[in-house]
Amino acid sequence: MVTTPRVVVIGAGFGGLTAARTLAGTRTQVTLIDQHNFHTFSPLLYEVATAGIGPDDIAPSVRGVVRGYSNVEFHMARVASVDFDGRRVRLAEGDPIAYDYLVLAAGAVSSDFGVPGVREHALPLKSLEDATRVRSMVLQRFEATDRDPSLVEEGELRVVVVGGGPTGVELCGALAELFTKVLARDFHGFDIGRAEVVCVEGTGALLGAFSPKSQAEARRELEARGVNVRLDAMITAVDADGVSFVDGTRLATKTVIWCAGVKANPLADRLGLPQSKRGEIEVRDDLTVADHPEVFVIGDLGAARDRRGRPYPQLAPVAMQQARHVARGILRRERGKKIRRFRYVDKGSMATIGRRSAVAELPFRIRLGGTLGWLSWLGLHLVFLIGFRNRLVVLVNWVWNYFTFDRGNRIIIPPEPSTTRRDDSA
Ligand SMILES: Cc1cc2nc3c(=O)[nH]c(=O)nc-3n(C[C@H](O)[C@H](O)[C@H](O)COP(=O)(O)OP(=O)(O)OC[C@H]3O[C@@H](n4cnc5c(N)ncnc54)[C@H](O)[C@@H]3O)c2cc1C
Repeated sequence: MVTTPRVVVIGAGFGGLTAARTLAGTRTQVTLIDQHNFHTFSPLLYEVATAGIGPDDIAPSVRGVVRGYSNVEFHMARVASVDFDGRRVRLAEGDPIAYDYLVLAAGAVSSDFGVPGVREHALPLKSLEDATRVRSMVLQRFEATDRDPSLVEEGELRVVVVGGGPTGVELCGALAELFTKVLARDFHGFDIGRAEVVCVEGTGALLGAFSPKSQAEARRELEARGVNVRLDAMITAVDADGVSFVDGTRLATKTVIWCAGVKANPLADRLGLPQSKRGEIEVRDDLTVADHPEVFVIGDLGAARDRRGRPYPQLAPVAMQQARHVARGILRRERGKKIRRFRYVDKGSMATIGRRSAVAELPFRIRLGGTLGWLSWLGLHLVFLIGFRNRLVVLVNWVWNYFTFDRGNRIIIPPEPSTTRRDDSA
């Protein structure tokens, strides 16, 4: 009798959801598990954090995405561990789930790199909750200053963004726009010109993975928008009143947003599999785990490397290409064939800086900047956003924001403590 293989996919992010969609309609029984009932389109988290779009618009329901696939079911649960010998996934609550193939795609969490005070006082930007928390915190600072303008002297209106990678740059540009174009019209009881965005980067350049030309353009464009860019600035501690630098100086602030990096999801530590120095799970070149050819690791959770031994970047296209490779690999294995080596096809990188300003570096050394770069950034993100409704709503928001200089999603939801930076949470 021919049995249908049971494929369990942990995580409905870029990797996991793509794996499930690639297996849809094939002779497999797929169970997709995620702790949330939605998929997070992280490239636009900074837009949620700066009131440009609402959280729902970048987070389609996973059930909605998979409901048309008869062989895919979704299970909302938190995975606690895996019994590799018994081939069962253990959940924090509920019965274990048996598998024939397992795809681990639980992603990454924010990393404080051991800097004291980050966990307690800085805000990560890794999840949808983080983004709404950042938005609420920033808006609350303005409301507090409206009640007591003397708070400006204590750094109430200074937002320090740590990390000059794409996320930090995009966030700084959008915050500057929120302050100067939107909040400047909302608040009249104090000098809004005292509001400041500071971009702190430990190395000598923004956008480390980009060409010097794009790096210079990003810096120029941010500074033109009033962002205070501090390069070669290493933060040694964060506390409730500000940040301390390695040179002994301090900057008063009540709002520190930590975009300095991520580490593998702590689930990796609980699985007992070999891990890289950064905590990701070591994989072979076909993305399987040593001694477990039925277990695959994809996306930010895995330590896949190219032929020269360099780790692949932690990007959505890497996770998605790995997901397709693994899904097709499972089908190949079912036909008695070997799974091939994974090879990432790099289609380029992009970062937006603000209104009519972005840098894009594409194959064949094509570099786009300014308005052209910005339009290509907008188009690409709309195409990759899941669901027609979300695309339409985001497009309408962008057009509205562009012509009215407004950012309409400015409600304050009283922030709760972050869960994505706690090691036991993910
Ligand atoms: C702010 C930000 C901006 C970014 N911008 C870009 C960009 O512009 N372009 C780009 O290419 N990349 C970008 N990235 C990186 C990109 O988001 C990641 O590389 C990509 O999401 C990795 O995909 P993944 O499937 O490995 O993990 P994720 O997409 O993070 O998905 C992991 C999933 O696993 C679930 N999960 C975790 N633990 C458990 C558990 N124990 N039980 C059940 N479910 C669990 C999570 O809820 C989540 O849904 C950005 C990342 C961030 C944080």
